[in-house]
Amino acid sequence: MEEIVPEQIIPEFPSTEESSSQSSCNTAADPEYVYDGSDPLLLNQNRLSDLIRDLDLPKDKALLLSSRLREWKLLTPDTIISKYNIRDTSYRDFFKKLNDLIYCCNVRGLVEKFGIKYDPTDWRLFIDASSKSLKAALLHNEGKHASLPLAHSFKLKESPESMNILIEALDYKAHNWKIICDLKVTGYLLGQMQANSLYPCFLCLWKRTPTGGSDPWKLEWDERTEFVRNEHSIRGGQIVHNKNILIPPLHLKLGLMTQFVKAVGTESECYKYLQEAFPDRTEAKLKEGIFTGPDIRYLLKDDLFENSMTPIQADAWKSFRDVCEGFLGIHKVPDYKTKVENMIKCFKELGTNCPLKLHLLISHIDYFPVNLGKMSDEQGERIHQELKDMEKRNEIWKVWKRKIVGILTQFLIDFSASLSKQRHGNDKEEAFWVLELGC
Ligand SMILES: [Zn+2]
Repeated sequence: MEEIVPEQIIPEFPSTEESSSQSSCNTAADPEYVYDGSDPLLLNQNRLSDLIRDLDLPKDKALLLSSRLREWKLLTPDTIISKYNIRDTSYRDFFKKLNDLIYCCNVRGLVEKFGIKYDPTDWRLFIDASSKSLKAALLHNEGKHASLPLAHSFKLKESPESMNILIEALDYKAHNWKIICDLKVTGYLLGQMQANSLYPCFLCLWKRTPTGGSDPWKLEWDERTEFVRNEHSIRGGQIVHNKNILIPPLHLKLGLMTQFVKAVGTESECYKYLQEAFPDRTEAKLKEGIFTGPDIRYLLKDDLFENSMTPIQADAWKSFRDVCEGFLGIHKVPDYKTKVENMIKCFKELGTNCPLKLHLLISHIDYFPVNLGKMSDEQGERIHQELKDMEKRNEIWKVWKRKIVGILTQFLIDFSASLSKQRHGNDKEEAFWVLELGC
């Protein structure tokens, strides 16, 4: 097992001479700025930390800015700049590297380092795997804390083997978290065959293809109690218990939207309305009904979209809205089951298919946790956005030849910032507190 060693980075920058000669060519003065000859305001430690935080600078840029300011004698004598070079060292012991996976090797220790009492049942494990990367983070069930990054790899991709490596590395058995992931990752974790298998449900023996007279819309199916290799679309290699899998509301919402758009057809008025409303979207994406959470929220509020529908389409759309608001959103209304049943009826009338996502609502409505609201689609979207931001940072950091642990560290700094905000309720204090913690 390889320990992570901080890299020494020596970035290349244009020389001071070059920069000053360029600026001297610029003779246009800012008319707003009047130089009154007074001494410059020197930055002390707090002001410098604040500035670095406001600019969202990675470690090496923070160090560069600090050195320049010191060079230009704009820092108070007691300001220490080396602290920006080592602010992530206190987190490094919590991470290790194995098979191109950077992962947290002491989750309890990491959580408790932030002064939070660790109880694994307060958290759930979010796994995101794609053809580009593999990521895992802990999400707080009550949404009280920001997500906590636990693992990242650019080499491990979506595959059963990657899941094995991840689950082992995180010592999953010791925590036994509930896992929230998309249905593809669910398949990898449970050893299910992928795409188009005959028995794709991880909870029951629902048959996707209506062969032998079976009806995919049927409510009752035999429970799936075993995961036996080569039986009922299992290829073998179950890694976690199927009852530990949580179905992400956001994925259900996106799946329902897809079914709706496919069912209305490209000749319908409301499809033409979608083409106008999303002029930059490719025809292929529109046809396949591929929309994001914000797209759907926008459309649900758009009366013109609803007005472009036939009565059957409008009924299905309204029933979908009821389910988004009363079941898949933040609040789970008391009669959510009726709303879901009504939507299923309307979708059937509209002529949608019955994919796995719809089946989960038809047959397993009681499986959804009571506090689904706390695990709402908005939270799912937020973590997706955070991970996207994390990768964007990586693009920047790759240029600086950084290792991924740097990104995780930045994420931890953000995490501590969110804690600080809760405790102090003050953005200004946040920066100091974070840097204190990180150094
Ligand atoms: Zn099922």
